[in-house]
Amino acid sequence: MILTVDSDIELIRKSGKLAGQVLEHIASLVQPGITTWELDLAAEKAIRDGGAQPTFKGYRNFPCTICASVNEEVVHGIPNRSKTLKEGDVISLDIGVTFSKKVDGKNFDFIGDTALTVPVGQISPRLEKLLADTKASLYAAIEASRAGNTLDDIGGAIEDIAKRNDYGIVRDYGGHGIGPNYHEDPFIFNYRTGSKVKLKPGMVIAVEPMFNQGGDRVRTKSDGWTVVTQDYKPSAHFEHSLLITEGRPEILTKRPNEVIS
Ligand code: MG
Repeated sequence: MILTVDSDIELIRKSGKLAGQVLEHIASLVQPGITTWELDLAAEKAIRDGGAQPTFKGYRNFPCTICASVNEEVVHGIPNRSKTLKEGDVISLDIGVTFSKKVDGKNFDFIGDTALTVPVGQISPRLEKLLADTKASLYAAIEASRAGNTLDDIGGAIEDIAKRNDYGIVRDYGGHGIGPNYHEDPFIFNYRTGSKVKLKPGMVIAVEPMFNQGGDRVRTKSDGWTVVTQDYKPSAHFEHSLLITEGRPEILTKRPNEVIS
């Protein structure tokens, strides 16, 4: 989606801002003993209290507000009453926030999509590094997300950090355009593909690197949603929604206390 109307840009900013606030809030609740179900309830309440809708709930029949993916789970983990976080785990929290406007009786959605991976209590130095490197690759990808650059500049920025640190890169999932139907073209690979597709001012995209401590390969569990690494090694995932401008992109989903480095 390319946004040119000021009121539309304001709406997507509103969605992104609330998404960042809610993500920071639920990340602060993460501690040993809490369940992913409780995190989901807190996220849903915060999104609805903010006057918005949880994007994921009901999207292709996904049952919850957040995706909560623990350790070897990469993305799309379903919150569960019996999934209790333990000291030493890592959890990827992914949320979507929708504000809508009505045009000729039809709803048009403006979505903020964002994720981060956080430690549960004390984690190993190796896991800390996995989280730090995946986060660094998101910021490198954001730097590369400029009008005139290609999608390959984004994929290359991510791939370089993964290769330097010997991580697997998830190949089957990646960033995407964001529009009224949530996922939109272009698909944004987290590695070089030779894509010559250029970024243009007004484009709204989500960039979301996923690094694995082991190999690249992933599979979907029998619940139809949860993506896990095939070798069961841990994975990390960070995501922001961006508005492409003439200069540096605007990070729509920036969290209130996030330090961009
Ligand atoms: Mg996304």
